[in-house]
Amino acid sequence: MAGIDHKRLEEPDIGYIAQLLRAHPEDEAESLFRCSDRVRKCSVGDSVHVRGIIEFSNYCSRNCLYCGLRRDNGRLKRYRMTPDEIIAVSKTAIQNGYRTIVLQSGEDPYYSASDIARIVDRIKDLGDVAVTLSVGERSHSEYATMKAAGADRFLLKHETADPDLYRKLHPGKSLDERIECLKSLKDLGFQIGSGFIIGLPSQTVSTIARDIALLKELDVDMAGIGPFIPHPDTPLASHPAGDVRLTLKALAVTRLVLPHAHLPATTALSTLHRDGRRLALSSGANVIMPNITPARYRELYEIYPDSASLSDPEHGGIREIAEMLESMGRRLSKTRGDSFRRRRQSEHSRAQGMPGMRGGLRR
Ligand code: SAH
Ligand code: SF4
Repeated sequence: MAGIDHKRLEEPDIGYIAQLLRAHPEDEAESLFRCSDRVRKCSVGDSVHVRGIIEFSNYCSRNCLYCGLRRDNGRLKRYRMTPDEIIAVSKTAIQNGYRTIVLQSGEDPYYSASDIARIVDRIKDLGDVAVTLSVGERSHSEYATMKAAGADRFLLKHETADPDLYRKLHPGKSLDERIECLKSLKDLGFQIGSGFIIGLPSQTVSTIARDIALLKELDVDMAGIGPFIPHPDTPLASHPAGDVRLTLKALAVTRLVLPHAHLPATTALSTLHRDGRRLALSSGANVIMPNITPARYRELYEIYPDSASLSDPEHGGIREIAEMLESMGRRLSKTRGDSFRRRRQSEHSRAQGMPGMRGGLRR
């Protein structure tokens, strides 16, 4: 690979992205990783943001073919955490140094938008902390209720940019609906995160190139890119796991296409490779999302088996992470790690004396 043509990545040129993803010989891929590491350093710096993730319910009304939480998996014992339990975990995490709490669940209608809003509001009262939601597809007005309570960010991966594959993997659902949700969230002022899975059936390098182009088109603030891991109680039980190296290449190219995005070292990658976190951090990633769910629930949140997050310490392990980062010449961020672009916008609004969105929520 004789140098990278950054102009072609700005458009972005899907054929060119696919060509980079095909980088095959060792030295070609290594030069891609070095380049994305440099771009990461120049655009988002050496700080790594940690976000504590609480998996508060494993009930799901959807039936995604790849996921262990799917509705039709009758072998899974289901649980829901109470608001008080969620607040207690958040409080400990904040005391331990976390500045972002991520609330994730299956698509569980048991929690109304107002229920989620009340939980967000209580977490925001615990300190200067950002709240990210990852609770699936809801209506514009439900998202508005969550935003008004102070939720800052929303993660909703598009999963695959191929509409036919999307339909096959998500019975009764469409990629367009997913994209509409992301647009709604953006309109409401959320920092948005999308992302996709590497190694889905019939996916090609061109599909992945379209995934990356879609991230650019959606102008995402964050993107999660992880390999598929088969779960024995799903229709994709015998489909092979995604390729670690291709995942790293997709991460690296995404860093080149979206220099200022927040890109996590995903848990799925660490599950497939012992050194996944370090490899991702050296290939463009700048975020880590440790699992802070109480251990008794964590093992039931089985999206895929043997998740690396099962061994994340319950107290959040901030000190160990700081040591690991130091050994890599990186450092733990002390900020909330808001979107680089949005941060500039909100500083501007403050300077103009504009009021924040939060307020008016009944307890
Ligand atoms: N229900 C919410 C959030 C929880 S699922 C939602 O779907 O948005 C979080 C992510 O887990 C999904 O976005 C999907 O990309 C990932 N996931 C599910 N099953 C997986 C598997 N078998 N291998 C890898 N990633 C998987
Ligand atoms: Fe439910 Fe999310 Fe799993 Fe799909 S990926 S089955 S929506 S938890």
